[in-house]
Amino acid sequence: MSENKDFLRTIAEEDLATGKYKEVITRFPPEPNGFPHIGHAKSICINFGIARDYNGHCNLRMDDTNPTTEDMRYVEALKDAVTWLGFTWNGEVRYASDYFPKLYDYAVALIKMGKAYVDSLNEEEIKAYRGTVTEAGRRSVYAQRSVEENLDLFARMRAGEFQNGAHVLRAKIDMNASNMKMRDPLLYRIRHAHHFRTGDSWCIYPMYDFAHCLSDYIEGVTHSICTLEFENNRELYDWVLDALELTPPRPYQHEFARLGMNYTVMSKRKLLELVKGGYVNGWDDPRLPTIAGYKRRGYTAESILNFCEQIGIAKANSMVDVAQLEFCIRDDLNTKVPRVMCVLDPLKITIENYEGEEEIDASYYPHDVPKVGSRKLPFSKEIYIERDDFSENPPSGYFRLTPDQPVRLKHAYILTCKEVVKDENGNIVEIKATYHPESKSGADTSGIKVKSAIHWVSARHAKEVEVRLYERLYKVDAPEGLEDLNPDSLHVIPRAFAEPAVVCEKPDERFQFERQGYFYADPIDYTDAKPVFNKIVGLKDSWNK
Ligand code: ATP
Ligand code: MG
Ligand code: MG
Repeated sequence: MSENKDFLRTIAEEDLATGKYKEVITRFPPEPNGFPHIGHAKSICINFGIARDYNGHCNLRMDDTNPTTEDMRYVEALKDAVTWLGFTWNGEVRYASDYFPKLYDYAVALIKMGKAYVDSLNEEEIKAYRGTVTEAGRRSVYAQRSVEENLDLFARMRAGEFQNGAHVLRAKIDMNASNMKMRDPLLYRIRHAHHFRTGDSWCIYPMYDFAHCLSDYIEGVTHSICTLEFENNRELYDWVLDALELTPPRPYQHEFARLGMNYTVMSKRKLLELVKGGYVNGWDDPRLPTIAGYKRRGYTAESILNFCEQIGIAKANSMVDVAQLEFCIRDDLNTKVPRVMCVLDPLKITIENYEGEEEIDASYYPHDVPKVGSRKLPFSKEIYIERDDFSENPPSGYFRLTPDQPVRLKHAYILTCKEVVKDENGNIVEIKATYHPESKSGADTSGIKVKSAIHWVSARHAKEVEVRLYERLYKVDAPEGLEDLNPDSLHVIPRAFAEPAVVCEKPDERFQFERQGYFYADPIDYTDAKPVFNKIVGLKDSWNK
């Protein structure tokens, strides 16, 4: 491994060197209650990446212990995300729910050891008895129940004899512990609810702190990597595994800082609210920070992997600038995708001294990109340019076409404005111009100086395409909720004009539209009759400009 490896890899290496483990086994343990987001990508890169680097393996485990929020659709989305990022899980997908019988047996074992009891306080009482950080807790009277009584009650809980909330199973640890998680934590609760995999076979469900460490143990996981907010749970993680006196080796938990990104919400609860409320168009809306959203928008898996590598693994929480992710996709596409022309807001130009048509051989790549390839670019008497590439009364520093200033048409000729045609309201509807025959790109002997080159398309040959432009979903850098949504995050341009080469032969095509940004043929809505392109990212950071 490289010199400056992260602290998790340092731990993994030490554990291999000391013989604590023969192999590094990790897991990625999402709860299937929503689509995975860019934060999950970080966790995927860490867990699968470390396993790969040390020739171990990583399991994909659904942490499906909460029957009311989970769904098979989310399992599929999680599998898609891991696969798309280029990782392979070990064997079959695992489910914590497959371990329910084993977890039940472990709970019975704890009861028999006198380390767990059935408590019959209600929720408020449990909370009140727990005390506070500054105030000792009180143990429930039910903690004195005999092992026999506990075994009987727990079996009847499982058999469905009691209502939700009537009893819980708790670990008997320490009601005065400074770590609140250790004050006789709940291990099981009654929940009469249908589970998407186990159906109605269970009406008691294990709590996270009981299910997670044991699922790790059952799978032979060595390094259980999670985010920092579980730091206080580590003591309980250890307690459960130690209390059961399990055959070694056992896993250990290590925490890293979760990814937070400005202008972005990542909580699945908040993402679900956006999807359910129709604020976005489904989980794969290109404005969402979901893996499905990035994929549909046209991000490459490489760009996300590079991003995860760049942000690194730290032990302290921090906020990453979303511009860094945008940099990664731009950087990836810069040398990969062909550059073509598309006019989003057309202004018609009639070139009065041009007759007929021609095809220009135009390179797809600039000189500094080590790729070859070109297309035939049609040129004719009527072209479209971008409306704001002409200015009748230009501000100073305006380098494009004006009544007095010629401009170069990229790959083609220099153009001079002759007449501005307006409608009765004074809106410019057309420009009449002339071209300079001896100014052709690559063979320019005209001697005319221009200050810039603009993109254009031949009107007759242009294809109509729909272009979807995305702005940030939130207008503030630390969004909390719906009130922070950017009302203008989606602009649809139903009729943009693209040169013929832009029309895709195959799905999964990306282009740079010269001077506009990077675009992706929408994998769902694109048809030959109606091509649709998503803007992936602009050419440079235009935020706060
Ligand atoms: P959220 O609160 O966004 O819904 P979660 O932590 O509840 O996320 P899980 O499905 O339980 O989501 O997460 C699966 C794994 O991904 C966990 O190990 C979790 O620590 C990790 N993870 C989730 N969000 C992030 C994040 N923002 N950065 C890094 N890792 C994350
Ligand atoms: Mg979770
Ligand atoms: Mg969550």
